[in-house]
Amino acid sequence: MCIFCKIVDGEIPSNKILENEEFIAFHDINPAAPIHVLVIPKEHIESFNDISAQTMAKMTPFIQEVTKKLALDISGYRLITNIGDDGGQEVKHLHFHILGGGKLIWKHYQKNDPHKSL
Ligand code: 5GP
Ligand code: ZN
Repeated sequence: MCIFCKIVDGEIPSNKILENEEFIAFHDINPAAPIHVLVIPKEHIESFNDISAQTMAKMTPFIQEVTKKLALDISGYRLITNIGDDGGQEVKHLHFHILGGGKLIWKHYQKNDPHKSL
């Protein structure tokens, strides 16, 4: 069972913000911003590649409710989902990162070999 499925089952504790029948929002254990929340479906879906339009349609208002609860809808925030190896996805259970609570930097690509072109 994956680590986020264990959070869904309560086997691993989490600091929850909001929960309904299908989704949970909880604080990231290793925050990358003053506010760093993860939103997951309770169902094990590997990544954004695999979510149905129907489930996404329900996840959208849930994420918006979380951002409102944290007053991030006023101050602004970043919504990210990492997908696969190049995306840097470590946990293979779909999750959206909500980052906020301060000005965020915008830099993603780490060019390891300057001689190698894209
Ligand atoms: P990814 O790199 O897969 O997009 O993000 C995984 C995120 O899950 C990371 O930000 C990491 O800190 C977080 N994380 C990993 N294990 C746990 C855990 O057991 N509890 C919580 N709350 N967050 C976790
Ligand atoms: Zn899972």
